[in-house]
Amino acid sequence: METPRIEIDLGKISYNANKLKGLYGSRGISIMGVTKVVCGDPKVAETLVRSGLNILADSRLSNIKRMQDAGIRARFVLLRSPALSQVESVVKHVDISLNSELVVIEELSKYALQNNIRHKIILMVELGDLREGIIPEVLLDTVKKVKKMKGIVIAGIGTNLTCYGGVAPDSEKMRTLSALARDIEDIFNLELEFISGGNSANYLWFVSSENLERINNLRIGESIFLGCETVEGKPIPLLFTDAFILVAEVIEVKDKPLKSYGTINQDAFGNTPEFADTKTMRRAILNIGLQDVILSDLKPSINIGALGGSSDHMIVEDFDQVLKVGDEVMFTLNYEALLRVMTSSSVIKNYNQVKEKQYIQSFYH
Ligand SMILES: *Cc1c(COP(=O)(O)O)cnc(C)c1O
Repeated sequence: METPRIEIDLGKISYNANKLKGLYGSRGISIMGVTKVVCGDPKVAETLVRSGLNILADSRLSNIKRMQDAGIRARFVLLRSPALSQVESVVKHVDISLNSELVVIEELSKYALQNNIRHKIILMVELGDLREGIIPEVLLDTVKKVKKMKGIVIAGIGTNLTCYGGVAPDSEKMRTLSALARDIEDIFNLELEFISGGNSANYLWFVSSENLERINNLRIGESIFLGCETVEGKPIPLLFTDAFILVAEVIEVKDKPLKSYGTINQDAFGNTPEFADTKTMRRAILNIGLQDVILSDLKPSINIGALGGSSDHMIVEDFDQVLKVGDEVMFTLNYEALLRVMTSSSVIKNYNQVKEKQYIQSFYH
């Protein structure tokens, strides 16, 4: 099969989604499946829905439309605050949006009324990570104003941590969010459907806390796709961490000097390379490049070391001197690599579906 390509194991994704739904669900926490890292890939989205995640969340309207156009049936949540210029489309395409600006909610209200829709929103609360969110001190006042807006339903509150400031979603943060939820419900006689405590970074809080307070929802992407939590970056027990494998192909193998020779100028990206040594080494070139992925975000399955790359080439040292032209080299990916590769139109997407039973056997034997 042609390269470069990404092997997408829908069976492993399904397994992870199922396990996480069961784990969080066992203590009253529902999860939204976050599809942004796969750009709303319809086959992956379909897999999540089949695995029991009936709410899909994405940061981009274009990804949500892609899933809807492919016939995916789910409730759709827009994670990134709607831009003022797109509120009309948001009201038409999205069931629930995450919001932190009154002017935006006012516009949502206007278009919801025009289209005879009741648009649900989750109000995002700033708890220190400093990406999106309403300052807690003005949350009650915001709720009061939003309650008066026709066509808008406050479906819940949420927070997002570990995305910008590296702030962990610990029990203190979850207690704060829960207390705010309690205040809103008491003061405004509202019932909040979602008290959404965060993302894949909430795993360690979840497994180490006896009291989950009022948190009843998480928005999970990375744990489903890469099998890890995101505070310490560790694998979650029993989940697959290799549902996605990038495959590139060797297009040149030669013994070449370590040091480039001639008058040394800037490389294609304006850096002046410096080379220390004069010995030769076994070098290979792979057909993947910076247009597709940041090369240091890839982890090879064999003993090679990345020397560098350009738009379309990855140059590696072949320590064991085993590679030949035409060989396939496999890599696991981190979140950023997965995002870029799924976005790259020049990386072929190849879907595999292995039955879940076979995985259970391979786990226990
Ligand atoms: C991306 C995102 C998530 C999911 O994050 P993961 O680390 O992939 O679980 C959740 N909520 C918001 C608001 C996001 O932008």
